[in-house]
Amino acid sequence: MESKFFCYFVSMESDEKSFEISRLLRQWYEANKRELPWRQTRDPYRIWLSEVILQQTRIAQGLPYYNEFLRNFPDVGALAAADEGSVLRCWQGLGYYSRARNLHEAARSIVNDHGGVFPRRYEDILRLKGIGRYTAAAIASFAFDEARAVLDGNVYRVLARLYDIEANILESSSEKLFLALALETIDPRHAAVHNQAMMELGALCCTPSSPRCADCPIAAHCLALASGKVSERPVRISGLKRKTRRFHYLCLYDGQGIYLQQRQGKDIWRHLWEFPLIEDPASDWAALLASHPEIGRWTGQGARLMASRHCRHQLTHQTIEAGFYLVRTGTGAEKPSEGALHIAVDEMDNYPLPILVKRFKDQLDSLIS
Ligand code: SF4
Repeated sequence: MESKFFCYFVSMESDEKSFEISRLLRQWYEANKRELPWRQTRDPYRIWLSEVILQQTRIAQGLPYYNEFLRNFPDVGALAAADEGSVLRCWQGLGYYSRARNLHEAARSIVNDHGGVFPRRYEDILRLKGIGRYTAAAIASFAFDEARAVLDGNVYRVLARLYDIEANILESSSEKLFLALALETIDPRHAAVHNQAMMELGALCCTPSSPRCADCPIAAHCLALASGKVSERPVRISGLKRKTRRFHYLCLYDGQGIYLQQRQGKDIWRHLWEFPLIEDPASDWAALLASHPEIGRWTGQGARLMASRHCRHQLTHQTIEAGFYLVRTGTGAEKPSEGALHIAVDEMDNYPLPILVKRFKDQLDSLIS
């Protein structure tokens, strides 16, 4: 969820201010920026896609997804016309699948409500599904030159150091302060380049650890550098508590194929596919069997545990401890659920899978043979 204070309209009265910091930043940016595909376009669809992918993903990891997504869905119309399964399959491995579902839904809304033309104004962009203030400001600024300040994690860090701010950036009460600072710094006549320059400075120069202050174009204005507090800024005190969930996946193999079922409800990985799942605090297969007699019906008489694998998967608010149990089913094995599909192992590639299921699937051929 994006913050309600992540962007702000910039008054043109700011024209009268001196924008020396902004000028230095833009000059540095033009000489040092990385050439990335979404920087060589003003196409709002491509800018939108890049911003959504990069919300939770590093550039090196996100770039191939960006290219592959565009190869499959080159414009808003193609994305709107696609079925959800093919969109999720393109997203497989990126995580945070609600981003892909929202992209898809927003594309349909652009086609249905805007005649297939991407809205130009910040306020209209903000109404699209899944687009919060940060992304709307980035699109309006980068694609249409609307004068908006954009605050992402990199910009927070630069501002916290530049102005030597003690406030905890993870507290919502700090957001107003950082917006005011962003406005203080931005030159609204050059909002698009300024915003990208701030983000790039945070990514390349004012990095979380070992910032390259000697090469920094705004070092002469940096208050944290002057006070020796660079390593203490920004202040991040997290109250985040992660809960741990234990997933037990039953890979029920009958010599022909396995069962796969689609996740439903308002939980992680909605609409992705997985093996029959039991969520239970049991620590191993024996404990699971003891507390779930239905497993005996699914595996049948004479069933055999062929292999088990365990892994830990970290999400923002949850830790998933997953066990995968490959079982050669016996006689009389029942279908594990009404909606379960019986398919060949190599057909699994046709279904969008959570990445930890995909990793186990990739081992299946060698485990079965
Ligand atoms: S001088 Fe150092 S700490 Fe200050 S903005 Fe530049 S890189 Fe960041």
